[in-house]
Amino acid sequence: MNQPQAGHKDNLPPEWRALADAALEARKRAYVPYSNFQVGAALLDEQGVIHFGCNVENGAYSPTNCAERTALHRAIADGHRPRSFRAIAVTGDTQQPITPCGVCRQVIAELCAPDMPIIMTNTKGDWRITTITELLPGAFSLEDERNQAQS
Ligand SMILES: [Zn+2]
Repeated sequence: MNQPQAGHKDNLPPEWRALADAALEARKRAYVPYSNFQVGAALLDEQGVIHFGCNVENGAYSPTNCAERTALHRAIADGHRPRSFRAIAVTGDTQQPITPCGVCRQVIAELCAPDMPIIMTNTKGDWRITTITELLPGAFSLEDERNQAQS
């Protein structure tokens, strides 16, 4: 890619600004009575529609769901095909642009194309663009396992 891969607000590539803003908006909807740590995600589908995601906590802890997975699971339930998405933006109140947790990385590897842009931001406007190939090298894939078993 010829575009810058990290920076601050003003030099975020224009094509991703609306998506980054949507992640900030989605963050306000987070249900986080335990951690008080709000995270927002915005997933861009193949038709240019943005799907919101926020973290949703639970008093039993393990049912807690992250913003990225909320957005992806919603879009799949709404009929979008895995690996059809154009990009996802994620934001939180972190010192550096927030990064998806390990569980979300595995879900992104399953449902998104290996080279799909992941726009990581924070509430201050710092950003970094990456891909799941960079975030989760060697991701487990049952599909790959099946394909290799057949060849
Ligand atoms: Zn996560």
